[in-house]
Amino acid sequence: MANYECQRCGRMFERRGLENVCPVCAPLDEEDFKKIKDFLSEHQGASTTEVMQHTGVSLRQIKRYLKEERLEIVGDNKGFLRCELCGKPVNSGRFCDICYREGTAKQLKGVKITPYGKFKEDKHKYTREVRYYEKDEK
Ligand SMILES: [Zn+2]
Ligand SMILES: [Zn+2]
Repeated sequence: MANYECQRCGRMFERRGLENVCPVCAPLDEEDFKKIKDFLSEHQGASTTEVMQHTGVSLRQIKRYLKEERLEIVGDNKGFLRCELCGKPVNSGRFCDICYREGTAKQLKGVKITPYGKFKEDKHKYTREVRYYEKDEK
């Protein structure tokens, strides 16, 4: 039974494991990822924009690779990727260290996590419903 929406083409497909894309997209997805990997191995420290321009891979895909922990942002990510539970900037994955266990547990239970996206225009301020941890920075 088709029970999962492909994160790439939006089609519903039958998810067998933890894959995020449908069988049709899987090879294309690998290809895009390889393009990024190749580009980054030759251009260390390239920005997301540069990666997009040179590989033709969309921002949405890049973000997904980050969430899937296949890519990692080095240094300040300027809020590009945020923890889906608390909104703290993260460099890779879907959750920050603090929320990781909670987030993973929810994910396994199939609880739908609403992607965090309510921070104000000013990227450095958080809205009231957000828990903000500042002492746990490394
Ligand atoms: Zn697909
Ligand atoms: Zn968090």
